[in-house]
Amino acid sequence: MKNKEIKILLAAPRGFCAGVERAIEIVKKSIAKYGAPIYVRHEIVHNKYVVDSLKKIGAIFVEELREIKDKSRPVIFSAHGVPKSVPTEADEYKIEYIDATCPLVSKVHREAENLYKAGHHIVLIGHVNHPEVIGTMGQLPKNSIDLIQNENDVENYTLEAGKKIAYVTQTTLSVDDTKNIIASLKKKYPKIKEPYKEDICYATTNRQSAVKNIAKNCEMFFILGSQNSSNSVRLVEVAQQSGCKDSELIHSESEIPFDKIQNCKTIGISSGASAPEILVENFINKIKTKFNVKIDEVEIVKENIIFKVPGKLN
Ligand code: SF4
Repeated sequence: MKNKEIKILLAAPRGFCAGVERAIEIVKKSIAKYGAPIYVRHEIVHNKYVVDSLKKIGAIFVEELREIKDKSRPVIFSAHGVPKSVPTEADEYKIEYIDATCPLVSKVHREAENLYKAGHHIVLIGHVNHPEVIGTMGQLPKNSIDLIQNENDVENYTLEAGKKIAYVTQTTLSVDDTKNIIASLKKKYPKIKEPYKEDICYATTNRQSAVKNIAKNCEMFFILGSQNSSNSVRLVEVAQQSGCKDSELIHSESEIPFDKIQNCKTIGISSGASAPEILVENFINKIKTKFNVKIDEVEIVKENIIFKVPGKLN
């Protein structure tokens, strides 16, 4: 096999976004400031490699605050954001908390709140049970926000007569699928109030465009990322919809399907916003052990966004 040449089209931008970099930095700086252990409510970002490496330096992951054994230790809220009830609960337990919610998720929270205060009923376009969706819905009183997942939901949706309606979206959705859902909403509710600025974040949009740009030239496409990472799963769908049917999510280099790759001339690689670059490097290095590899990185845009960590950690 070693004589066989494989071309790798490497999508760029890929991997860590500014919100993920910030959230990981918050955990590291908190451990440096307060010592270990530090609790983290929910996976700080949806990637097993990241979570495991933070566990090694003293992070303890819990799903709910009641699971925290030593409530004298600080807790960090994950990048996905939390419902308003969570900081309230932390105050009740007298647990110090540090909020690692991505500023772009917080922006959607404030937007939903402002639209609600202006008298709108809110629909959130997103995926049921995703922590970001739970967090955004939890910014508003029950029955003032409804989840819509697809065009079918729009069709079956009923709004109380005389109510004004507005929508917000999850930040990591498929740009194309969401366009269709929004078009259906606008058709049904022509006066629906839109977010002031697009909610799907720059990182989601850029990673999807980069994959879209090269997918048609690839026989197989691999997205490095975890199963529970919404933006990684969307990248697989985008690759499939953009001309590379044989696209899959892959957690690490241990899962490479060499038997399938050996029939390809060109494969595509990208990674979700929560997947570290080391996973891509390990993946490529493993492929190099079997094939002669030619790498062509195709960058569609340069990213230079940085989010600062909370001042108290500096
Ligand atoms: S994917 Fe977007 S919204 Fe989510 S953490 Fe990254 S920058 Fe923030």
